[in-house]
Amino acid sequence: MKWEENVRRVTPYTPGEQPDKAGVIKLNTNENPYPPAPGVSEAAAAFQAGQLRLYPAFPEKTLLAKELAAHHRIGTDQIFIGVGSDDVLSMAFMTFFQSDRPVFFPDITYSFYDVWADVYRIPYSRKPLNEDFNISVKDYCQPNGGVVFPNPNAPTGILMSLDAVEEIVAANRDVVVIVDEAYIDFGGTSALPLIEKYDNLLVVQTFSKSRSMAGMRIGYAMGQPALIRYLNDVKYSVNSYTMNTAAYAFGVEAVRDQAYFEACCQKIIKTRERAESELLKRGFVFPKSFANFIFAAHKTIPAREIFERLKENDIYVRWWDKDRIGNYLRITIGTDEQMEALYRALDKICRVYSDKKNSIIT
Ligand SMILES: *Cc1c(COP(=O)(O)O)cnc(C)c1O
Repeated sequence: MKWEENVRRVTPYTPGEQPDKAGVIKLNTNENPYPPAPGVSEAAAAFQAGQLRLYPAFPEKTLLAKELAAHHRIGTDQIFIGVGSDDVLSMAFMTFFQSDRPVFFPDITYSFYDVWADVYRIPYSRKPLNEDFNISVKDYCQPNGGVVFPNPNAPTGILMSLDAVEEIVAANRDVVVIVDEAYIDFGGTSALPLIEKYDNLLVVQTFSKSRSMAGMRIGYAMGQPALIRYLNDVKYSVNSYTMNTAAYAFGVEAVRDQAYFEACCQKIIKTRERAESELLKRGFVFPKSFANFIFAAHKTIPAREIFERLKENDIYVRWWDKDRIGNYLRITIGTDEQMEALYRALDKICRVYSDKKNSIIT
């Protein structure tokens, strides 16, 4: 068809599967296995449908913005709120990456970055992680059109030191550096304090992982007021009302309950530590994770095999048929009970695999 010549063609991002089968153990999309703070349920029960008659408030005028600002000890003019951090990151790509020079991000990282770069026609260059899957700071100290990376990185779970993050931000004063902190609450140190010193730093966080609200879609960026103003100018040029009234009301409660939030993160960290020893015992190797997942390879059994067998047992993990990481599985940390089921299934898979091997040899 002739009109297809004028189509903006893109290859979309592929999220992890959301099986509609009941009873599945979902360890494939880094969702939190625990419910949101109790206040969120109360706010949901108290929510009046009549409130939906009006357009939602502008994010910066909401109680959610005030609570977030108080929580992070910054001004409301230093926060940009969006529909999940995917929305925030997408707006940030559109706003800040307008250079002819390539934007830099790691070769193994969140697989939405190249999708946004493609859809917005932003040139980019993927910088290979080193052998141990670490980011090499010096790769980001060449002329570029901007920098973006998650810390901890996904899907590796590896945390970069705050000094290394600062080195990258300091080396790139002429462009915007975005630090995607989707997993920072599981043991990392946020780069947020650096926004006082660096006007080119944007720190992005989300309610989807540590605050158990992936379905509500709330994410936010923090930076100096000038950065936030530019982000808002672009966002209000695309769609004034992206956030909805319920998200504001429920999100506030998630921020207010600091004790619940901390307890929830601690539980996941504890389960992750246990998972490290359980996976080691079963022949897996993996980098030390500071996220709510472990990126693990088995010493003898191919990742694809484990992925398929786990699925047959109704346990979903994430596997990418990609260069360098094709033998790794990204396993989200679930409840202790879910993880026990995973270990049992892995024992079974290991047994069957070694029986199969032996029968081939004899
Ligand atoms: C999950 C995730 C996001 C997006 O989360 P939202 O649900 O859109 O807030 C962004 N970056 C990374 C690295 C993620 O893992």
